[in-house]
Amino acid sequence: MEPGITTGARRIRVFDTTLRDGEQSPGATMSLEEKLEVATALAELGVDVIEAGFPIASPGDLAAVRQIAEQARGVTIAALARCVKADIDAAVEALRPAADPMLHVFFSTSDIHLQHQVRLSREGALERIDQMVRYARAAVPNVEWSAMDATRTDLDYLCRAVEVAVRAGATTINLPDTVGYTLPHECARMFTRVREYLAERVPNADQIVFSTHNHDDLGLATANTIAAIEAGVRQIEVTVNGIGERAGNTPLEEVVMALRTRADNYGGYTTGVRSERIGGVSSLVGRCTGIVVAPNKAVVGSNAFAHESGIHQDGVIKDRTTYEIMTAESVGWTADQLVLGKHSGRAGFRQRLADLGYEVDQERLQGLYARFIALTDRKKRIDDADIVAIVEEEEQHSGPEAFALLAWRSASASDGPGRADAAVVLAIDGQEYEASGTGNGQVDALFAAINHLVRIPNTLVSYHIDAVTPGGDAQGAVAVTIAVGDRTFQGRGVATDVVEASIRSYLVALNRAASAAKGTEHRGDAETQRAAERNESKGREEVAERV
Ligand code: MN
Repeated sequence: MEPGITTGARRIRVFDTTLRDGEQSPGATMSLEEKLEVATALAELGVDVIEAGFPIASPGDLAAVRQIAEQARGVTIAALARCVKADIDAAVEALRPAADPMLHVFFSTSDIHLQHQVRLSREGALERIDQMVRYARAAVPNVEWSAMDATRTDLDYLCRAVEVAVRAGATTINLPDTVGYTLPHECARMFTRVREYLAERVPNADQIVFSTHNHDDLGLATANTIAAIEAGVRQIEVTVNGIGERAGNTPLEEVVMALRTRADNYGGYTTGVRSERIGGVSSLVGRCTGIVVAPNKAVVGSNAFAHESGIHQDGVIKDRTTYEIMTAESVGWTADQLVLGKHSGRAGFRQRLADLGYEVDQERLQGLYARFIALTDRKKRIDDADIVAIVEEEEQHSGPEAFALLAWRSASASDGPGRADAAVVLAIDGQEYEASGTGNGQVDALFAAINHLVRIPNTLVSYHIDAVTPGGDAQGAVAVTIAVGDRTFQGRGVATDVVEASIRSYLVALNRAASAAKGTEHRGDAETQRAAERNESKGREEVAERV
């Protein structure tokens, strides 16, 4: 198969940009480990392309793209670059380990952007596009070129820019609605016009894959994406849960399920997405980004398959198709959710774990079940998200553990010296130790107590609390990042008490630091980090001379 070409005229290539455009959502920043977890889940979901990041943007982005490129197989890995040599160099370097790399270069084409942001004439822009697409193509055979702000670009000029990019070697042409402005018929007309223009001038123009990338500022992203498919586009750029800049990007789950549910209308457009994995990936992205899906969100909202009104319930009980156009199972939500509570036995709990995609042996089941029963004492309703949070926290403990939490207490008050007191009991290599600490809050005091025992000098780089589910008795999920020397380590912890969740997350990070110190992992990391730093300084100079 040639790069950039998918088999079957009605096969739609899914280009997922959750890790790039999605991660640009305010507050969505993910750790390296979370990005790797999401990338693995996307590959298993069956997307064709994972846009892993924008390597010039930061050393962290470059390192993430490189690691994803190293690990992911059976999927194309894309990296973003402006039409600037340093950007392209950084992206090429990050993509080097990829089995199937794609370089994504973009340049603005609208007069608004050319005049106010890029400060180049139309002709100057064409020259830049020609040079930089050629430069990119010399490094990587699979090049996507995007006309930033395409939907607000003069159509004749857009046609000329696309021709320049194709002649320079671009294999995919993406015409994004960067600002979420276009309408479905207008978006379709743009693609039809550009494709006709190209077909008249460039030999083998039908080998070029056209791509659509929409933003949801007017709530039209999915509609525009589908209109583009009907106009001949064979690649869609989407994100899980529709996360992305401002109002977000086209949600992957909406387009995939619209094509499937209305196959009668769309006559056999297919994607490689395994729809029954959508629910799981949606939850994962929600947890990693902290961006909670609205209950009424199409396909992945918690109410998307819930029937509340009496008339609807009556109909669904008689026959599900009365009010359901697709089944909950088809997107990975188990139907007829049996309620899990204090009285659920191990078998029911194990079945729910299996439904959620976790196969556990007897020994792990024992530990997980104990945490589940403890949770039923503190929380009225146990949701799938609670169970997933417990399993995922527990999975972090799979390696050898130097430190384990046995007990803790802490106290703080509005009066008094303004200090919190805390004590912890830890098992360290099988021995029990106790220490106390003070701090300007309970978490601070507990971390101080832990540090008396653990003795790994570290600084707390970040600390986030989120609720796993809504409600006053929700579990708190805490994510911490610590720096030890020039390395960083993440940990996540869940508990109904956020103080306990904090201790758990901190100990996970410290255990990871301890096992790294023993040299059990990470040879490549330092190298990646050095490469990232080199590129950061390069990037700064380049941004200064900005296009
Ligand atoms: Mn975008």
